[in-house]
Amino acid sequence: MKLKLSDEVQFIKGVGPRWAERLSKLEIKTVKDLLYYFPREYEDRSQISQIKYTAVGEKANFRVEVLKVEYQKIRNKLDLLRVTFSDGSDVVNGIWYNQSYLRDQFNKGDKYIISGKISEKNWRKYNRKEINNPVYEKLDSEASVLNTGRIVPVYSLTEGLTQRRLRRIIANAIKSHASLLKDQLPQFILKKFKFPNLKTSILGMHFPKNQKHQKVSRRRLAFEEFFYLQLYALEEKKKYNELKGIKHEFIAAENKKILEELEFELTSAQNRVWSEIRKDMESELTMSRLLQGDVGSGKTIVAALALLETMANGYQGIFMAPTEILAEQHYLNFKELLSKFNYKIHLLTGSVKSSERKNIETEIEKGNSDLIIGTHALFQESLNYDKPGLIVIDEQHRFGVEQRHSLKEKGDNPDLLIMTATPIPRSMAMLIYGDLDLSVIDEMPPGRKKIATFWRRENRRKKIYEFAKEKIDEGRQSYIVCPLIEKSEEMPKLISAEELYKDLNSGFFKDYKLALLHSSIPADEKKEIMENFRDGKIDILIATTVIEVGVDVSNASIMIIENAERFGLAQLHQLRGRVGRGRYQSYCILISNPPGEDSAHRLEIMCKSNNGFLIAEEDLKMRGPGEFFGTKQHGIDDLKVASLIDDQELLVKARDEAGIIVKDKNWQQKYKEIAEIISRIELKI
Ligand code: ADP
Ligand code: MG
Repeated sequence: MKLKLSDEVQFIKGVGPRWAERLSKLEIKTVKDLLYYFPREYEDRSQISQIKYTAVGEKANFRVEVLKVEYQKIRNKLDLLRVTFSDGSDVVNGIWYNQSYLRDQFNKGDKYIISGKISEKNWRKYNRKEINNPVYEKLDSEASVLNTGRIVPVYSLTEGLTQRRLRRIIANAIKSHASLLKDQLPQFILKKFKFPNLKTSILGMHFPKNQKHQKVSRRRLAFEEFFYLQLYALEEKKKYNELKGIKHEFIAAENKKILEELEFELTSAQNRVWSEIRKDMESELTMSRLLQGDVGSGKTIVAALALLETMANGYQGIFMAPTEILAEQHYLNFKELLSKFNYKIHLLTGSVKSSERKNIETEIEKGNSDLIIGTHALFQESLNYDKPGLIVIDEQHRFGVEQRHSLKEKGDNPDLLIMTATPIPRSMAMLIYGDLDLSVIDEMPPGRKKIATFWRRENRRKKIYEFAKEKIDEGRQSYIVCPLIEKSEEMPKLISAEELYKDLNSGFFKDYKLALLHSSIPADEKKEIMENFRDGKIDILIATTVIEVGVDVSNASIMIIENAERFGLAQLHQLRGRVGRGRYQSYCILISNPPGEDSAHRLEIMCKSNNGFLIAEEDLKMRGPGEFFGTKQHGIDDLKVASLIDDQELLVKARDEAGIIVKDKNWQQKYKEIAEIISRIELKI
């Protein structure tokens, strides 16, 4: 029979149907699965020590010969096996309780490598060197040494499976099937990075000859994982970028006019990203760009410049916000910003009344609308734009590849700009947004004061309120964010916005103007509340995370977060970003009695840092990539070896190499097998 990597694992020596069943619990079904089932860690048992010179209590490995085997029944349910080993320098006993089946394993004169710790207790008690339950491996000419006397792989196991058995099974699979492992990575890459071939690498992952062997093997396999994902991303990118789209022209007069409207100068980062965007818009190819910038870094004005350019060219600008509150806010902003221009601006959200909506849609379809701001309603299938030139998506880091491609259908390949304040670590952005060009605003507008952040226990609430009162009396406004809308029976310890509003409105803050804002409040009421808050008619807004992204009220300088332990780092950072948007010193107060170390650690990070990227990196480290995005479907789950945290430089290299490959129009013919791998990747967000 011809061997294949897709052979069922039960045909590997030592497996059979019973063990195959157990291995399937580890998602190991084929020989290939088995070979790619990598250790979770390694234990270095390669150093051989001498018994005589090894301190009691220290872990060590000895090359020994069996001197004596004693077996003893101590009482009814307790028996003892004591094997005396010598390495010529001294003797040591191996001690096993209730493992009488090992009796026949050891015979006088047999040679072994054993590993373990010389028991301190037994040394003190009996003055004997003894190891309880030593790891042992017989040294006979035939079998390879798997369990000690080497760097030993340690796997994640399932019930009934032991390290010993799994090591043996994997070693058998390597013996029978490893020669079938063929390199798919191009030879020039293997050479360039001095990567070992695939077979050597798989061996190096399981049974490395030394540390270096393991390290280079791991690097090679990690590179390979990144490489395929980057090839996929760059292919997707080509699909968008190579589309002929709209060639915008720079209209200097209009651009100047809007810049003169501003009370500030653009930062150099804003200028840089604007020129990157311009370059794309003014090329005949389609733009597909991600604009990243921390909360408050000033992305909106950059979007405004781009939208103005498309309008000045006679096209429609489309601006999508994630929530109605934000759409509303942007609508008001843009109306003011563009008040000296003659453009027609419309707001289109789910809550626009259907009669009015018909009107707006007609205006859009007839081309009487120049700038359309809204929510998802903007992309309903039935809505046909007259001449869409640029689509801006605000605060949508989950706007997936599929969704992005579907936008192309609107009009003649309009340019696309996605903006996010979610400070996705660069490595993550490259992986998930590998198909987009990336612009980063890495600088804050001048004069921003660091938001002073404090973490306080719940018993300090009164003091915190007094502090807020003081600031409100000075003319500022405050947010208080709660994890729940209404009281929950299941989570009695969590504070709800409704309760808190009631309490404070008739209690501590009864002389102040309070308002309640959450997702189940009707849209027009929400709108009114936000307008009133913006106009300074409300002192304290008690809210849920509906205000998480984008809300921009520069007079608000206090953010109080109840049950702060309930929020993730990214969320806390976003919430904090609602303050510190103007010239006032701002404060973020996290109220929490954290239940665990993790949440305490998060709160500490928040107090220490205002830098979104740093916080995102920490978040990624704490939660791991799978959870970072709250969904498990973006290909990063396929990373078995590579780490987004530790292998960032490798990711950059993989992208460079992938870039070289896709430059060649015929690469899919040259590298058929790789093309086949790529065609199976599906990156969903
Ligand atoms: P975000 O990037 O979070 O969307 P915004 O675009 O809402 O940030 O900008 C935050 C605030 O900073 C706004 O009030 C905006 O007017 C202001 N702003 C933007 N750019 C500058 C700048 N260069 N100098 C001063 N203030 C600026
Ligand atoms: Mg914004």
